[in-house]
Amino acid sequence: MPNVFASQHPLIAHKLSRLRDKNTEPKKFREIVREIAGLLAYEATADLQTAAVEIETPLEKMQARELKEKIGLIPILRAGLGMVEGFWELMPSAEVWHIGLYRDERTLKPVEYYNKLPIEPRVSVCLILDPMLATGGSAIATADVLKRWGAKKIKFVGLIGAPEGIQAMQTAHPDIDVHLAAIDNRLNERAYILPGLGDAGDRQFGTG
Ligand code: URA
Repeated sequence: MPNVFASQHPLIAHKLSRLRDKNTEPKKFREIVREIAGLLAYEATADLQTAAVEIETPLEKMQARELKEKIGLIPILRAGLGMVEGFWELMPSAEVWHIGLYRDERTLKPVEYYNKLPIEPRVSVCLILDPMLATGGSAIATADVLKRWGAKKIKFVGLIGAPEGIQAMQTAHPDIDVHLAAIDNRLNERAYILPGLGDAGDRQFGTG
């Protein structure tokens, strides 16, 4: 799939194995989520535009480059929150906007319960953050909200994707790049990713 990027980076592969391990405690789990998020942030922002800027080194003036685009981070509550710090370490002035969706356990469909987007978009690229792209329901619903709001350039960044969720996202939003640490085998009957890592929210917040 042309705009689905599964990282090939050995550091990400190594950290993801620690993350999947059922014996990894919440403190370590949060630390690794943050680290992988930072590494994925680096990969997912490789095509951002820069503009010329004149600076002065201790030796002379030069034409340097600075980031032209303003970035908005949209973590899907609650599991996406753990990815924000990793992004912020690399792009501290990124704005963070919150959209709350939960998955109705009966219908497996996303329900919006919180939306703190400003009236108008003032960022040029929106990065949706959610560790697990399972059915794709929350990611698609979030992208729908962002597009209705007027967002022009949107990317999705997650840790693990299921083929079902990736396909659904591609069908609903073929213009949105999807960046993942890994693509797993399939969903189980409760829409958990196999082999996956379990519930990313419970494992971060110690609520499992
Ligand atoms: N959400 C999770 O936290 N884990 C899954 O496997 C699927 C959805």
